[in-house]
Amino acid sequence: MKPSPFAYAKAKSLDHAIELLSHPEARLLAGGQSLMATLNMRLSAPKLLIDLNGIGGLSGIVVRNRTVEIGAMTRHAEAARSPDIARHAPLIALAMPHIGHAAIRNRGTLGGSIAFADPAAELPACLLALDGEVEIAGQTSKRAVKADDFFKGLFETALGPHDVLTAIRLPAATTQTRVGFAEFARRHGDYAMVGLAAAAKADGQALSDVRLAYFGVGNTPVRAKGAEAALAGGGIDEAVKALASDLDPAADVQATAATKMHLASVLLRRVTQQLMEARP
Ligand SMILES: Cc1cc2nc3c(=O)[nH]c(=O)nc-3n(C[C@H](O)[C@H](O)[C@H](O)COP(=O)(O)OP(=O)(O)OC[C@H]3O[C@@H](n4cnc5c(N)ncnc54)[C@H](O)[C@@H]3O)c2cc1C
Repeated sequence: MKPSPFAYAKAKSLDHAIELLSHPEARLLAGGQSLMATLNMRLSAPKLLIDLNGIGGLSGIVVRNRTVEIGAMTRHAEAARSPDIARHAPLIALAMPHIGHAAIRNRGTLGGSIAFADPAAELPACLLALDGEVEIAGQTSKRAVKADDFFKGLFETALGPHDVLTAIRLPAATTQTRVGFAEFARRHGDYAMVGLAAAAKADGQALSDVRLAYFGVGNTPVRAKGAEAALAGGGIDEAVKALASDLDPAADVQATAATKMHLASVLLRRVTQQLMEARP
C-alpha cells in the first residue's frame, strides 16, 4: 500500500519544529522506521510530516554529573558503538543488538523508540528499569518526566500533540550497579514475545533497589514490583511466585497468556543470574 498524501517540512530548529506542530494533524519524523510502516499501512494519515533530521544539537551522548544524557535523534547504531554507553549505561548496550537489524539501527533513533512506546520494544523497558527520565520541549516550556510517569497506555505517553522529546537521561552506572537483560523472540531481531530489562544495586552478597521492567506482556512496559521486593529479600523462587500477581499478559498472535507467563519466569531466573554476577 502507499501512504495517504501528506505535506513535508524540514524543521530548521527545535523552535521551528514546535511551531510547525501547531498545524492540524502534524507528525514528527525521526528515523522513520516505525512511522513509515504505519503510513504505508494507512494505520495513520497525518497531513504534515515534520522532519527532525536537520536540527543540530538533538543527537549525541554526554556524561556529566553522574548522568548519561542521550539526544533524542541519536541513532541506535551510534549508541551501540559508544564507549560511554558501554561504560556508563551498560543496560542500553546489552539491549541494542536485539533491536531490529543493522539497517533499522542505522536510521532508528532512541527518542523515536521511546516516543513511539511500542510495548514490545526494548528501550522503553530499559528506561523504566534504570529509573530514567525524558526531557520534553513544549510550546511554552521544557519539562522532565520520569519513566514511571511517561508510559500511559498502548502507544500512549505523556507527550502532548505540541511536544518534542529532546533527550533521555539515565543515572550513570557506578561500581555497585548490576544490570541484566534477556528476551525471547522467534528470530533474533524480531520484537520480543516477552523480554526483561533489570537494574539493581549490589549490597554485599545481596541486591537492593531492584527494578524489573518487562516488555511484551502488557500495553506498556510493566514493572514487576512484587518480584522486585522478593529479589531484594534474596528469594528467586519467591520472586518467580510473585510474578503471578505482578503480570497479567493477554494472549497475542505470538503466544498464549500461559506461555508468556512461563517465559516471564524463565527470563527472571536468567536475568537474576546476571544481576548476581560481578560487573566486568
Ligand atoms: C522491520 C523492523 C523491525 C524492528 N524491530 C524492532 C525491535 O525489535 N525492537 C524495537 O524496539 N524496535 C524495532 N523496530 C523499530 C525501530 O526501533 C524504530 O527505530 C523505533 O521504534 C522508532 O524510532 P524512529 O527514530 O524510527 O522513529 P519514527 O518512526 O520516525 O517515529 C515513531 C513515532 O515517534 C514519534 N517521534 C519520533 N521522534 C520523536 C521525538 N523526538 N519527539 C516526539 N515524538 C517523536 C513520531 O512522530 C512517530 O509517531 C523495528 C522496525 C522495523 C521496520
